Amino acid sequence: FAASGGGLVAYADARADTAAESPGVAPKKKVVVLGTGWAGTTFVKNIDSSLYDVQVISPRNYFAFTPLLPSVTCGTVEPRSIVEPIRKIITKKGGEIKFWEAECFKLDPENKKVYCRSNIGTNLEGNGEFLVDYDYLVIAVGARANTFNTPGVVEHCHFLKEVEDAQKIRRSVMDCFERATLPDLDEEERKRTLHFVVVGGGPTGVEFAAELHDFVSEDLAKLYPTIQDLVKITVVEHAEHILTMFDRRISKFAEEKFQRDGIELKTGFKVVKVSDKTITMENALHGESSVPYGMAVWSAGIGTRPVILDFMKQIGQGNRRVLATDEWLRVRECEDVYAIGDCATMSQRKVMEDIMEIFRFADKDNSGTLTVKEIQDVLEDICIRLQKVKNLPATAQVAAQQGNYLARCFNRMKDSAEKPEGPKRITKMGRHHFLPFRYKHLGQFAPLGGEQTAAQLPGDWISIGHSTQWLWYSVYASKQVSWRTRALMKQPLLHVTKEPT
Ligand code: FAD
Ligand code: MG
Ligand code: MG
Ligand code: MG
Ligand code: MG
Repeated sequence: FAASGGGLVAYADARADTAAESPGVAPKKKVVVLGTGWAGTTFVKNIDSSLYDVQVISPRNYFAFTPLLPSVTCGTVEPRSIVEPIRKIITKKGGEIKFWEAECFKLDPENKKVYCRSNIGTNLEGNGEFLVDYDYLVIAVGARANTFNTPGVVEHCHFLKEVEDAQKIRRSVMDCFERATLPDLDEEERKRTLHFVVVGGGPTGVEFAAELHDFVSEDLAKLYPTIQDLVKITVVEHAEHILTMFDRRISKFAEEKFQRDGIELKTGFKVVKVSDKTITMENALHGESSVPYGMAVWSAGIGTRPVILDFMKQIGQGNRRVLATDEWLRVRECEDVYAIGDCATMSQRKVMEDIMEIFRFADKDNSGTLTVKEIQDVLEDICIRLQKVKNLPATAQVAAQQGNYLARCFNRMKDSAEKPEGPKRITKMGRHHFLPFRYKHLGQFAPLGGEQTAAQLPGDWISIGHSTQWLWYSVYASKQVSWRTRALMKQPLLHVTKEPT
C-alpha cells in the first residue's frame, strides 16, 4: 500500500475531529457506512444516531432512485427528480452523522480501518487519501456492471447504473438522430446510426428498450419525420426468453408486446465482441454474425467491485464470486463487519442442519420431549428458515430491507447489558434474540412502455394492465422517498387507492 504515496502516517486520521469526549463518558462506538445507495441510505435513515458515532463515506453525495433511471434516459423524468442529497437526509436526523465524499479503495479488517480517496479534495500530501477507523463497518457499495470480459464493451457501450449514465444515454440518442439527418450520409449509414441495441433482457434492459420505443414513436417521430422509419431497436438476450426472473406469463406478455411494437428480440444470442460500428453475436444454430449499430446499452449483469474482491481475498473468501454474509448480514469470518445490498449475498445453512438445530434449541429443558408451546415455536422458526433457502435477488427491495433490518439490530444492541454486542453474539435462534434477516417480497415490476406494466405480486397474483404502473411507483414512493422526490415524479401518485403489503 505504501506505493500510493507515503506510509500510514501520511494520512490524515478522520477520527481526530471526533476524539473530544467528555471525561467519564464512554465514547460512542464508531459505525462506518460505505455507500449511499438503497442499502446504505436506508441504514442511515433508520440508525439511531444518538447511540453511535455514524460516518458515511461514498463517492456520491446523493441517493438515486434507480427504478426511474430508465425514464431519465429519454427525458420523461428529470435527473433532479430522482436524487436526494445525503446531507439533507443527515440534517433531518439532527446533523450528528458525518459524510465524506470519497471512495473506499482498501479495507483493513485486521486493524479495523478503511482507506479512502477523495477526487475532489487534496490533503497535505496532495493525493486526497485518508484513513478512517471503525468499531463496526457496514459495507453497502453495491455492484458494478459486468462485461464478462467481452472485448469492446467498455470502449463502445453505455451502461445504465448511475444518473450520469442515463444523462449520457439521453445525449447519445439525440446525437444519433441529429447525425442521421446530416446531408451527406447514405441510407445504409442512416440506418446504422438509428439502430439501437440493448444487450441484456433483464428488467433494466427491457425497461430501457420500452422507454426508448415510446420516446421514438411519441416524441422523436414528430421532430424527425424524414428518418423515423429507419429507426430500429433490438434487444439481445443470451437466454431463450427475456425477463426470466419473472413468472413465464409476464415474460410472454413482454415478448408479445415487443413484437407488436416492432422491437426485435434476439433471444438465444450471446454478444461476443463490440467494435465502434458493429456488434458481433453468437447463436447455437446460426453461428457468429455481425450487425451494424449506432448506439448500444449494456445491461447484461452485475459483478463484484475490485475493492470487495480484494477484501474477500484477505478474509479467505477469495474462491467466491460474491461476498458472503450469514443470515444476520455479518460478513463470514470477519469481526464487526456487515455487508448489505448488491455487494453481498446471504448464504443459508443447509435446511436439515437448520431444522435439527431448531429442534434442539426448542427443547429448552433438554428433556427429550417437546411441549405444545415448544412445538409452536419450532414451527414458527422453520417457516422463517425455509423462506430463505432461495437466493435473494439483487434488487432495491432487498437492499432497502437489509439496510432497515441492520439498523434495527444496531439500535437494539445496547438495549440490555447481557447482549451488548447485539447480533454478533447470536448463536441460537429464539424470541429473546435477534431474528435473522427475513425478506418480505412486495412484488416485481417491469414497466413496458405505453403505460402497460406487468406486475408480479406476492401470492402469485398476476395483473397486467394500466393501473399496475401506479401500484409500482406507490410501493417505492410510500416506502423510501421523501415527499419532495415523490411530488416531482411524473406519475400522479394520488391515483393509488390500495397498496400491496
Ligand atoms: P447501490 O444502490 O448501487 O449503491 C451503492 C453505493 O455505494 C453508491 O452510493 C455508490 O456510489 C457507493 N460506492 C461505490 N463504490 C464505493 C466505494 N468504493 N466506497 C464507498 N462507496 C462506494 N431494483 C428494484 O427492486 N426495482 C427496480 O425497479 C429496479 N430498477 C433498476 C433500474 C436500474 C436502471 C438499475 C441500475 C437498477 C435497478 N434496480 C431495481 C436494482 C437496484 O437499484 C439495486 O438492487 C440497488 O441499487 C442495490 O442497492 P445497493 O445499496 O446495494 O447498491
Ligand atoms: Mg448502498
Ligand atoms: Mg441505489
Ligand atoms: Mg445482496
Ligand atoms: Mg424459537
